[in-house]
Amino acid sequence: MEQSIIYLALILTGLCFGSFAGASVWRLRARQLVEDQADGEPVDAAELKSLKKLTKTSISNDRSQCLHCSYTLKWYDLIPLFSWLSLGGKCRKCRKPIGYMEPLIELGVAAFFVLSYAYWPYPLTSGIDIARLVLWLIAGIALAILFVYDIRWFLLPNNINFTVIGVGVINAALVIISASDKPNAIIDIAGSIFILSGLYWILYIVSKGKWIGFGDIKLGLGLALLASSWKLAFITLFAANLIGCIVVIPAMITGKLKRTSHVPFGPLLIIGLFVAVLAGSYLLNAYVNYLP
Ligand SMILES: [Zn+2]
Repeated sequence: MEQSIIYLALILTGLCFGSFAGASVWRLRARQLVEDQADGEPVDAAELKSLKKLTKTSISNDRSQCLHCSYTLKWYDLIPLFSWLSLGGKCRKCRKPIGYMEPLIELGVAAFFVLSYAYWPYPLTSGIDIARLVLWLIAGIALAILFVYDIRWFLLPNNINFTVIGVGVINAALVIISASDKPNAIIDIAGSIFILSGLYWILYIVSKGKWIGFGDIKLGLGLALLASSWKLAFITLFAANLIGCIVVIPAMITGKLKRTSHVPFGPLLIIGLFVAVLAGSYLLNAYVNYLP
């Protein structure tokens, strides 16, 4: 009974934070376009026109709007998932499609909350233990924003990257505080940073920024601090590359993706970390048992 209440709370808060993440993606994009235009970079005029109104809303009057007709969404249009379903994915006023990103990111964050609690590999006995799970869930909301943003626009916005790094620093500090062998914990975290951020840094310098962007290095640092373990960092990198191959090779064969196409690394690394933290110890045990 108590467990079902926890799961229900996780689903509902997950849907709400997913809705927040979806709205943040559009606001970040609007701000990005305005900044790019101010820097004299080429900007899609139609996209800027439809998103510009989002930059004008102040925090006190921060209501979501339809991107087509500027209809200000009422409270009953903002209920995660249910509003979208009841409207058939269309704006209440102009009936233009809202798109699938909103419901998918809401479901995604809710699923992330539920799976994180169900498969959390660490004990949940002390205050520090519970704080680490809460930090992980907060990081997940920021990572959901980065995930969607990188897939759509091949970019990892700085302020969200820094949010993940900030949450990661607190997580790493808690890991060190609660570790019985503190020097070892610090070496473990340093190894994690080298694997997930340092290697990308070397690739970045060698390729002069051609193979990967600097945003991936910052994301790698945030993920390394969240993993706080070189083993989990290694599984993250391995899983990200494996999933990358599974996705990229068929797309190359069918011609959907050209050799020169840009593949966003961010979403692959984020899924990699998710697999590593929630299934890493299981995978390591399975591997050790498989050895002769
Ligand atoms: Zn509309």
